[in-house]
Amino acid sequence: MKVGILGAGQLARMIALAGYPLGLEFIFLDPAADACANRLGEHLQGDYHDLALLAQLAERADVVTYEFENVPANVADFLSTHTQVHPSPKALAVAQDRLIEKNFFNGIGIATPAYAPVDSLADLHAVMADIGYPAVLKSRTQGYDGKGQSVLQSAADLDSAWQKLAGVAAIVEAFVPFTREVSIIAARNTAGDIVYYPLSENLHQGGILRVSECTTDDAMQEQAQTYITRLLTALDYVGVLALELFEVERTLIANEFAPRVHNSGHWTIEGAQTSQFENHLRAILGLPLGSTAAVDKAAMVNFIGGLPDNADILALPGVHLHLYGKEPRTGRKVAHATVRTETSAELAELTEKLASLANLVDDS
Ligand code: AMP
Repeated sequence: MKVGILGAGQLARMIALAGYPLGLEFIFLDPAADACANRLGEHLQGDYHDLALLAQLAERADVVTYEFENVPANVADFLSTHTQVHPSPKALAVAQDRLIEKNFFNGIGIATPAYAPVDSLADLHAVMADIGYPAVLKSRTQGYDGKGQSVLQSAADLDSAWQKLAGVAAIVEAFVPFTREVSIIAARNTAGDIVYYPLSENLHQGGILRVSECTTDDAMQEQAQTYITRLLTALDYVGVLALELFEVERTLIANEFAPRVHNSGHWTIEGAQTSQFENHLRAILGLPLGSTAAVDKAAMVNFIGGLPDNADILALPGVHLHLYGKEPRTGRKVAHATVRTETSAELAELTEKLASLANLVDDS
């Protein structure tokens, strides 16, 4: 069985690493010559729009999936006329435009912050009367890790925030005074079976995920499962999906979803019975899904922009280091480490140590 993946970054790499024990082979399409998954399978190097390469990928792979959502819609459609593609082009189309995504959430009863589309500076001034301050202005498409976003504190911020967007279609949303950010990750296979991971509690700084911790018996688990079930069912979704949520006064408000494996689920490699990467493969191959139960306590810390000495990380007990093989660059995720412990106290102590090591090299 050969799995084709659009993109050959660290997510594709971790999918492939999970697939080897299952006897799977991989073929990647990615424009970068040094894409970090390319040592784990065949690498078709070229543009995502290159129809000849896409046709090759479709022909040589039994099933195609992707590691990011900003795949041009016509590419997913083209591939799906040639081979099986999971998740579906529809899931991509919804996830890659924040306005369509928020409309979709509301259509299936998933709460969102108040929001409005913004196509001009005049629009922005007009809608702020309803949205109120503070608010966040975001590009509708292509935004990730907080890119293309500005926080609006007052009317004085509107002109400069709009200029920064350089004319792209945008959305403005009310700033959510959240007490926590959490995400739920679930997998749905071709038979429609669904499994849910325990909620991840996430810490972002500057719009980038820094730390994720697996929760135990979280009070919000049930509501999050209800939301993600609606999403998976409405999209007739196959694969792993991550839903990012804000918690405010014991309710959950959706931020966005990712139609793929997700950074906040990296702890599942060592911290769950079956990792999100293996369950993604099981789901798209029509196999039974594996148990998502947590094994001990687990938390993950991202290394962004640079790496401390490996030995400093590996000296910590219960730590598992994942280097992505990427050149360090400002704001770039180059590795993560997961710590697994028996007690919450040990987890807190070791996570803090890992986070301090990560902070030392973080230039973002
Ligand atoms: P996003 O790219 O939309 O996931 O945003 C990145 C991060 O910015 C989120 O994880 C939050 O920490 C923060 N953020 C985004 N939108 C909002 C909002 N409406 N209210 C409060 N914080 C936000």
